[in-house]
Amino acid sequence: MQAQTGKTTCPYCGVGCGVKVPLSPDRTSVIGPVCGDENHPANFGKLCVKGSHLSETLSSDGRLLQPVVDGIETHWDDAISTVAERIKTIIDEHGPDAFAFYLSGQILTEDYYVANKLAKGFIGTANIDTNSRLCMASAVAGYKRAFGSDTVPCNYEDLEKCDLLIMVGSNAAWTHPILYQRIVEAKKNRPNMKVVVIDPRRTATCDIADLHLAIAPGSDAAIFNYLLTESVRQNCLDQNFIANNTDGFEAALFQAQATLASKKEVASFCDINESILQQLADWWCSKEKAVSFFSQGVNQSATGVDKANAIINCHLATGRIGKEGMGPFSITGQPNAMGGREVGGLANQLAAHMDFTTEGAIDLVQRFWQAPNMATKDGLKAVDLFQAIEQGTVKAVWIMSTNPMVSLPDTAQVQRALEKCELVVVSDCNTITDTTVFADVLIPATSWSEKDGTVTNSERRISRQRGLLPPPGEAHHDWQAICEVAKAMGFTTGFDYKQVFEIFAEHADLSGFENEGKRDFDISFYSQINQQGYEDLLPVQWPVTNTNPFGTARMFSNGRFYTENQRAQFIAIEPRFPAIKANKDYPFILNTGRIRDQWHTMTRTGKAAKLLGHIDQPYVEMSPLDAIELAVQEKQLIKLDSVLGSAYLRVKISNAQKKGQIFAPIHWTKQFASDAVVSNLIPQAVDPLSGQPESKYTCVQLIPQTNLLYGFAVVANDIATDALDYWCNITISEGKYYEFAMSDSQLTTTQNDGGIINLVNKALTSNGVNIELGECIEYRNPINQTIRISYLMEHKLQAVFYFSPNPTLPDTQWLITMLEAGKVITEIDRIALLAGQPSNSVDKGKIICSCFNIGEKQVNEAIVNGAKSVIELGKVLKCGTNCGSCISELNGLIIPTSKVLSADYLDASL
Ligand code: SF4
Repeated sequence: MQAQTGKTTCPYCGVGCGVKVPLSPDRTSVIGPVCGDENHPANFGKLCVKGSHLSETLSSDGRLLQPVVDGIETHWDDAISTVAERIKTIIDEHGPDAFAFYLSGQILTEDYYVANKLAKGFIGTANIDTNSRLCMASAVAGYKRAFGSDTVPCNYEDLEKCDLLIMVGSNAAWTHPILYQRIVEAKKNRPNMKVVVIDPRRTATCDIADLHLAIAPGSDAAIFNYLLTESVRQNCLDQNFIANNTDGFEAALFQAQATLASKKEVASFCDINESILQQLADWWCSKEKAVSFFSQGVNQSATGVDKANAIINCHLATGRIGKEGMGPFSITGQPNAMGGREVGGLANQLAAHMDFTTEGAIDLVQRFWQAPNMATKDGLKAVDLFQAIEQGTVKAVWIMSTNPMVSLPDTAQVQRALEKCELVVVSDCNTITDTTVFADVLIPATSWSEKDGTVTNSERRISRQRGLLPPPGEAHHDWQAICEVAKAMGFTTGFDYKQVFEIFAEHADLSGFENEGKRDFDISFYSQINQQGYEDLLPVQWPVTNTNPFGTARMFSNGRFYTENQRAQFIAIEPRFPAIKANKDYPFILNTGRIRDQWHTMTRTGKAAKLLGHIDQPYVEMSPLDAIELAVQEKQLIKLDSVLGSAYLRVKISNAQKKGQIFAPIHWTKQFASDAVVSNLIPQAVDPLSGQPESKYTCVQLIPQTNLLYGFAVVANDIATDALDYWCNITISEGKYYEFAMSDSQLTTTQNDGGIINLVNKALTSNGVNIELGECIEYRNPINQTIRISYLMEHKLQAVFYFSPNPTLPDTQWLITMLEAGKVITEIDRIALLAGQPSNSVDKGKIICSCFNIGEKQVNEAIVNGAKSVIELGKVLKCGTNCGSCISELNGLIIPTSKVLSADYLDASL
């Protein structure tokens, strides 16, 4: 038998890259690194660093393999009947709205479809929401207000074909790297193409920007209102399109002119330079092919829907929609946020792009499903749902493939809700997450490489995510768990699917049912699909119908929309700042987001050692001016306080931040750090239309932590962390790496030498290491008050601890390499351990290129030796030649200052 190759889709971001997976001949294991599928139209063979390391995330460590009921492992059938019985008891007593699903953009369309069907058609509640609410709900609401439907008009090719690309609230270089690389390539081939970034902070995405508008947080809508008024002044309106295909232009223009009447007022509102604002307007008015690419920076706002409509207004006014290289393009964060939208997996949707308010829709769906208990009104959106759980009106929640204890705002409230909830069911592939610890019932779910179904990416492209490996233990697909619970609740018809393709076919059939062109989402071409057709399904952009079997590249090319009169609607927008302002108690504005090599709450990417080499601990980024005022240094521990909670992060000083604004990543959970969940700080302020939380704007106080002893531990096993005031850990291939800090003066080097040794012994022995069998090498440096302690077992490294009053710790990559190699420790190695310096050249420094494991020291050495460009570095070290995610940092090492045209940092800072 020969090794085989499976084709599937990456499970991380909304780009939706095709992946090829090398499988053992019996298809039971992945036998090497994955690579990009050159035939997939999203990525044409490329993968970013996260996708490239997918095979390293497949370990069985921490995998949930058996159902658990009330803390006791049980079998699948017991768990299913328990969940069904308990849900039934609660809805019999309290009604259908006492139950809710909380789902995820990680699950597949077929999983979403049956969950939506069970809730809205059979139980009779629309309480089914998803973490996509946190990601793109504002874009959905904006599209619906303008087009009458949740329709993304554009495709990825438009990003390459446009002459002006405006990227708003997106650090695509880190969050959608393959799309960003496509843009980089397009700009290289067409140097006249202009890229503009609108973002309060300077990110890696600005590396290709011709212009960066570092706007005041939340002021985005004013920029687009200005573009609308300039479109009039510079005579670039499409008068025919406005007259024949839209309503409401005059009111939108009047509002834009009335609120901020002059360029000066707009620039002042946005806190930017007038000349930069005008340069954007001049490009907008002179370059016909323009795409506005927007993401979380627009959506995660209490005025996110207005911002989306301010963007869409500009495209409607100039007729730049439905044509090559043009359009307002919302980019989704999650791999299947779009699939969830298609089935109606949000509380304010019904099914197949129909709402409860769509005329005749409830009756249509009821007849199609033969549903006994149709929900008739919107359910609770995510934040409202968890408030209802705390208030006791929702008494049972089934959480699937998401970690609300980390991702929802005000996690203390989420905790109160889950503690109070009568029945918490969690389907997950991990045993321990910050959320699973609150589960009454834990259902083992399949994970990427096992899950089987379809996903839809940001350009409406449906792709197969294939089940390549057999599910381990008693793990089942989410659709199987839902259908079995449905049947056990007595819904004997409607959930009797034998194969997943049957669900897809039904979903496709519903999309075309009595549609006749009235609804945008129509994939009825697949309503008769069979197993083989499903297996062979090629990536395709919906709608896909019998008259249009190859899919649809762009929407609205005919100028007809899905509103009642088929005309697009302008929305009059008044730009508004967040209601809460920074004040003397909470003077800093906290922005949150993602980092290059991690995904969501690290449940998957946290398993890949190489993905933690780039940024290995939670941090808060601040301007040098704020660092001076606070008298903090790089890496110092600092406490963030908001009105709701606190978090402890390490200081990162960067010119990317304006004074008074800070940034912290969202990924760290209680599994990876002692106290670094930043959602804990964020209030539950939401956009009134979309219900999307304002995760990009929170006012906080910063409190530097002083007189601490800092340290690290490179260890073969987990260590006890009780004595550590602050810690974070990462997985390395043969153990764990910890960084920590302590305030206990008894542990200082000067007062009590025994304190350190006791702490180290306790940290090791409490997790089963018999230190009596080992050898301890210890060195204390009285000059800089550092201590190094190494434990050897059978002449191999078992653990290294380091303590210092200085928060900047020495490089540890060489120690990690030594531990991972498991080599016998020689005399030279002993000297190195005592000296705290590598005896040879294994010290790479901080990993810059995760694809080829190239560290900062190697890059600097190559630069000193004559490599003066990223291309030359690539030739010498290969860094930057795969996914390209590190190119921005490589550039930063070659040329430490950015050439991006932006005077705003200087204006704000001086
Ligand atoms: S860009 Fe990266 S994370 Fe996103 S789908 Fe592609 S490979 Fe996966």
